[in-house]
Amino acid sequence: MPMKSPGCIFCRVVARELPATLVYEDDQCIAFEDVNPKAPCHLLVVPRRHIPTLNDGGEEDEGLLGHLLAVASRAAREKGVRSFRTVINTNADAGQTIYHLHVHVLGGRIMRWPPG
Ligand code: AMP
Ligand code: ZN
Repeated sequence: MPMKSPGCIFCRVVARELPATLVYEDDQCIAFEDVNPKAPCHLLVVPRRHIPTLNDGGEEDEGLLGHLLAVASRAAREKGVRSFRTVINTNADAGQTIYHLHVHVLGGRIMRWPPG
């Protein structure tokens, strides 16, 4: 799979072609504020590499997937949030709208269960 997909919004954020409020970055991923937050803290952790959905991650991506969760926790802590929900929407029926893998980190309010 190519590193970058033309026209992909999150590839453009990774390339700093679109503005975003970054809270963390390293060689594998970036974390930034969701532009339309659904909670007082709403971050997105995004791999630099273009992987459309969780279904598209291969065996070679298992380390990266674990890293995204570790960064989700670290980024939440940096925002002063210790209770949070991590969400990965996969495909349209689950609510995925941007087809570049991302982990939502939602916190700063009571989260209800089950999610809608
Ligand atoms: P999903 O529906 O799971 O694909 O999540 C996509 C998320 O990306 C939504 O929560 C949007 O609010 C968010 N979003 C879309 N465009 C941007 C952007 N340019 N910067 C930050 N967040 C964005
Ligand atoms: Zn992309």
